[in-house]
Amino acid sequence: MTEELRKRDEALEEIANRLGITAERGKRFAELTSLRVGGSIDWVISPTTEEQAAAIVFELEKAGIGWRPLGSGSNVLADDGDHHYVVLSLSEMKGELTFDGERVSVSAGYSLPRLCIDVARKGLSGIEGLGGIPGTVGGALWMNAGAYGHEIGIVTEAVRVARDGRVVDVPGTSITWNYRHTSFKDGELLLGATLHLKTDDPDAIKARMDDAKARRLASQPHGSRSAGCFFKNPPASTIGTGKMIDELGMKGTRRGSAVVSPVHANFIVTEGENARAEDALALAEEIRERVKREQGIELEYEVELWRANQPSAEGDHVTSVLGPQASSPAASQSDPLITRASEDACGPSTDSPADDSRAKEE
Ligand SMILES: Cc1cc2nc3c(=O)[nH]c(=O)nc-3n(C[C@H](O)[C@H](O)[C@H](O)COP(=O)(O)OP(=O)(O)OC[C@H]3O[C@@H](n4cnc5c(N)ncnc54)[C@H](O)[C@@H]3O)c2cc1C
Repeated sequence: MTEELRKRDEALEEIANRLGITAERGKRFAELTSLRVGGSIDWVISPTTEEQAAAIVFELEKAGIGWRPLGSGSNVLADDGDHHYVVLSLSEMKGELTFDGERVSVSAGYSLPRLCIDVARKGLSGIEGLGGIPGTVGGALWMNAGAYGHEIGIVTEAVRVARDGRVVDVPGTSITWNYRHTSFKDGELLLGATLHLKTDDPDAIKARMDDAKARRLASQPHGSRSAGCFFKNPPASTIGTGKMIDELGMKGTRRGSAVVSPVHANFIVTEGENARAEDALALAEEIRERVKREQGIELEYEVELWRANQPSAEGDHVTSVLGPQASSPAASQSDPLITRASEDACGPSTDSPADDSRAKEE
């Protein structure tokens, strides 16, 4: 271990102890992401309250220690290398829901599917299309998760972020909510949000949730290890990415432990105990090359690629051992136009889920 790393470790342990936050070594991304691949992580820090999370990133930044936030890891493909930075795991920062009329306040570590069920039971509508999206509320806010006519940004009245060690409210209207991309900046830690929903009949909400669930089950692999749709739908295309890949005959294509799902061609699934990120990456790049060559379309990653050693074209994360956190995917800086190519769970969600002619599957 280098002297630099030793000093960092000492500083980190001191900060975590002082703030009473769990800090663990020896974890791998394969344990923390839904694709179940990825290499070792120097430290995983798990705050349980918004105040703790705000305090720890302030301290890490003061000490010059690089960090990166992780929710449930359901939209991240981390490579197989040794990741020499701190992962701030938010999945224990669940908090309690607070209801105030049509508003609900939720912490970033709360499960999004759980939230959808909880608000539906209270007769609050606006996120029932999101019920099948695995992950935390923080992850959903970060990339404006959406499906079946609903996007989290549409109902977000305010987001709580960490600033100078404190919890600060940012109005939802000051944030740009695009197709799987927002204007949150690198190094911005999302702590929680207040959603403004609409009162509706709980049975009607439940029926819409069941409908979205049934459509998801019919069109996507379940019980497999994936990160959802691997690529975004291209803005100008009349067909969705899944259909495009399917038309190239790539369903079922395997590279080592990674396979193009036979159920939905925009899903890459991993298999086996020792699955490797490099297989998933190789397969993804092969898909991109073929789509480019045969359809003339440049696919953009929807999944975030986290590289251990160098910033990548698609996931431009700074991974310096000692340095500021920087964690927004460069590829998603673009602002794709809303497309009608596919309006299933992988496409933009600007339409009413009730409008079946628009809510067609890929
Ligand atoms: C089977 C399956 C189906 C899916 N279907 C959909 C779908 O229909 N629609 C859709 O939009 N997505 C879908 N996804 C992708 C994924 O579930 C969503 O992107 C989800 O919102 C990610 O949440 P997470 O907590 O897992 O985030 P992570 O994967 O842990 O993180 C994603 C990004 O958010 C950042 N982040 C996480 N928490 C915070 C925080 N508190 N503050 C700052 N940054 C943070 C991370 O640094 C990372 O950059 C699917 C995934 C799977 C596996």
